[in-house]
Amino acid sequence: MTETHFAQGALISVLTSEPLDRFLDYRAPEGGVQLGSFVRVPLGPRRVLGVVWGPGAGDFDIARIRPVHAVLDVPPMAEAMRAFLTRAAEYTLTPLEAMLRLATRVPDLGAPPGMRKVLRRGVGEPDRLTDARARVLEVLESGGVFAPGELSALAGVSASVISGLEKQGVVDRVAAPRDAPFDILQPDLRGKELNEDQQRAATALREAVRSGAYGTTLLKGVTGSGKTEVYLEAVAEALRAGRQALVLLPEIALTGAFLERVEARFGARPAEWHSGVTQADRRRCWRGVTSGEARLVVGARSALFLPFRDLGLIVVDEEHDTSYKQEDGVLYHARDMAVLRASMTSAAVVLASATPALESWANARAGKYARLDLTERFGVAEMPEMAALDLRSDRPEPGRWVAEGLRAATQARLAANEQVLWFLNRRGYAPVTQCRACGEQIGCHECDARMVEHRFRKILMCHQCGAERAVPTACPACGKEGMMAAIGPGVERLAEEALALFPEAQVEILSSDQTESARALKARIDAIAAGGADIIIGTQIVAKGHNFPNLTLVGVIDADLGLQGGDLRASERTFQLVRQVAGRAGRAERRGSALIQTCVPDHPVIAAILSGDEEEFWAAEAAAREAAGVPPYGRMAGVIVSGPDEARVVDVARELGRRSDMLLAEGAQVFGPAAAQIARIRGKFRYRLLVKAPKGRVIQPALSKWRASVKLPPNVRVVLDIDPQSF
Ligand code: ADP
Ligand code: ZN
Repeated sequence: MTETHFAQGALISVLTSEPLDRFLDYRAPEGGVQLGSFVRVPLGPRRVLGVVWGPGAGDFDIARIRPVHAVLDVPPMAEAMRAFLTRAAEYTLTPLEAMLRLATRVPDLGAPPGMRKVLRRGVGEPDRLTDARARVLEVLESGGVFAPGELSALAGVSASVISGLEKQGVVDRVAAPRDAPFDILQPDLRGKELNEDQQRAATALREAVRSGAYGTTLLKGVTGSGKTEVYLEAVAEALRAGRQALVLLPEIALTGAFLERVEARFGARPAEWHSGVTQADRRRCWRGVTSGEARLVVGARSALFLPFRDLGLIVVDEEHDTSYKQEDGVLYHARDMAVLRASMTSAAVVLASATPALESWANARAGKYARLDLTERFGVAEMPEMAALDLRSDRPEPGRWVAEGLRAATQARLAANEQVLWFLNRRGYAPVTQCRACGEQIGCHECDARMVEHRFRKILMCHQCGAERAVPTACPACGKEGMMAAIGPGVERLAEEALALFPEAQVEILSSDQTESARALKARIDAIAAGGADIIIGTQIVAKGHNFPNLTLVGVIDADLGLQGGDLRASERTFQLVRQVAGRAGRAERRGSALIQTCVPDHPVIAAILSGDEEEFWAAEAAAREAAGVPPYGRMAGVIVSGPDEARVVDVARELGRRSDMLLAEGAQVFGPAAAQIARIRGKFRYRLLVKAPKGRVIQPALSKWRASVKLPPNVRVVLDIDPQSF
């Protein structure tokens, strides 16, 4: 059995959040320390955050081992959480300390209570400044707050020196800030009366939560079928069981509406965790989660790494959404991590979507996940009527993108006072700016990417690195004046077309470009939902969960956009995106319709979108992936080698390729290296290798050895991406 309490002076092993790649030994402080406690420990001249991970190894100079400075005023990290961080680190090939950093992204974690220097004139120059007192003041000079024991340890003085200073009013004590308490969520307050399908699903989910065992359920239901109502019943059950629940949403802009729904259902607001939350609220959420007082958290993917005290349910809403993959820093997929975490803490997982990821669909088919279907929209609402507009016969004139069929349908809906959405997954005005004289296209200086014109802001912008430039009047290559032309459409240009066609209409753009806060965006979305727009022009942001009751027509401007390029996930993504967008039409009494502009109406993906025959589509996709031996029917890892010096990057990539026999024992094959799809970003060249292994193999240890076998020259980075999203 593992010890859970270490008496004063005992050797303990501490995981710090510093990039050291190993545990450090310390001695338990006065009063001892619990396993899992958050502590502050000395590291050289600094003090750093750590967690007590186990008994010390005692494998270096015992005499030099220092005591822990302070045990922070928060409950210890639960064992299941420590186990989760360990497994997540192994799975994603990330150092454990990087996982700890993800779990402790919170301002002044446990800083107060403690001592600090009083900031008043004259204070700090007491009459009798003994050496001991001077040392204390020197430590306090940093302006920080120190636990009394920590302060005496750092200054090397006895406790009486500090109490002396306190009496003289040179230092004072600060109390821990009081977090506002969380209002009690009432599981039985205002449940909706569920229809038969919903009831069946809700009962199954309640049982899954009540069992107190791990289990994942795919909740598949068309847009508007009541998935949210149903999984809120699972949340209610977790609350009744006295456990915590986490609901992940793919987009901050969705949280506002969701919080209101939770409040209506449970009579109180849950805790929130995402990048738009204030520092004070972050701290309150983190502490509430750790203590167990915060019973429900609504958040972005990073909320998965909060140290919940007793997590009983994780809901991943819109589980197919690509934003669940974190693409920098620690590379992880929130859906996979949710399943891993739940399996280690005996929690239930609900994956909700109208268009599940192929992985989830396949796991349900294989019996690894349970599956619940909601096949009908709630109430009188019906699924929209879907039709293709063949751009080969109904071709807009040059410089226009709306086919006559869509124009006429839009006009009819506007005349009936209904809303129309045109969907185009391209931000800005035009994706290409080209010189009509010499053909030069304006590219980013730092990236292998074209600059995108944003006409409202009168700039060119690189969507890879965010660089901005003025739109040139003369061609940077041939110098001719007035020849630069916008090529292709973006949402801004489409808005121009909408106004040209319907000068009376109120046109609103919804894209992730708007540099507005989550709150402002929510207000705008509410205004649009309340009728504040006739034509909404949107990027993929509109595909996610927003509810526009008066919207009855969706026009997809270019359904073929996502099908180009060799990515094996292109079909899946296009299917999901277009079905999701189409699902925005006709959510209330009026039946909606969706018009899909395409040059390839017979393409299997477009055909599946139109027929709605999903099971057949998924089965065909699954068969293709299985034949290719790629996820979910094979393991895959991407390797990106990057750096500012292309020759060095290529050398490292080739060297990795040459050593690929190191992976043979795992049955793995290595493809590449080749230039990455975007071969340069922010001045760094990028080369890519792909590792493919049979399903069921644990390839991480071999990958890790393989990576370590190549010595890296300065400024070259190798990043391993387990389960890459594109392949
Ligand atoms: P989904 O999450 O599948 O898109 P929602 O749960 O958002 O569906 O439900 C769509 C709309 O129908 C919401 O406005 C919701 O409040 C309403 N709704 C769904 N089920 C019920 C029910 N049983 N009683 C009353 N309203 C319902
Ligand atoms: Zn750039």
